[in-house]
Amino acid sequence: MNNIGVILAAGSGSRTGLSTPKQFLPLGGKTVLEHSVQTFNNHPSIDQVVIVTAPEFMERVKAIVKENGWSKVTAVLAGGKERYDSSLAAVRYFADCPDAVMLFHDAARPLVSERIISDALKAMEQYDAVDVAIPAVDTIVQCDREGTFMESIQDRSLLWRMQTPQGFRQKTIEKAYCIALKDHNFTATDDCGTVLRYLPDVKVGIVRGSERNIKLTYADDLSLLEFLLSEPER
Ligand code: C5P
Repeated sequence: MNNIGVILAAGSGSRTGLSTPKQFLPLGGKTVLEHSVQTFNNHPSIDQVVIVTAPEFMERVKAIVKENGWSKVTAVLAGGKERYDSSLAAVRYFADCPDAVMLFHDAARPLVSERIISDALKAMEQYDAVDVAIPAVDTIVQCDREGTFMESIQDRSLLWRMQTPQGFRQKTIEKAYCIALKDHNFTATDDCGTVLRYLPDVKVGIVRGSERNIKLTYADDLSLLEFLLSEPER
């Protein structure tokens, strides 16, 4: 079995309004990135971990890996401009491992748990693609591009909020991107969307996420994360 954790940490985090990218912000005495990597590194069923970061932060990340003595981190890779460029760097790095299970995780979700990783790996025994998600609690409305008026409201009971990790067999995600990159209109904010759109025959399984597995996006999210970190999971 080859279960690989891919930690995506190449974003600029411009929405926080802070000069430091969100994955390097401090949280409970460590950086946000360290929380995410640690949970994957310590998971008994994860065999290796790679971290994708911006070229200018590669040395810094390598130093963090060394300081923490993470035995499973086998590579620090250069990411790209878009999130999918960063995912692709890892997909290509593992081109020789078509049957490997790759779990792509946002470094900016530092409270991912061992339970979520275990459930995602278990679901990968049944599916070639899975996503961690939670049911939507707010009603979600589709608006025009400028956000000035409403267009349609979907049935909330069918809507889920996607989190990470998102898991794929390497050959599945590679095939999806291979087709996607030939499409001039291709855009993506996550990897499951690429599989859903370009490999419609692949069933994407859903794994229950957690309200704690939030993505650090705005500066205020840091206080919420600090609070959640101090509260044990129930
Ligand atoms: O921008 P967003 O909040 O969707 O980013 C989610 C995760 O993807 C973050 O951990 C970020 O560092 C990562 N990312 C990346 N490469 C990019 C953009 C985002 O690895 N070009």
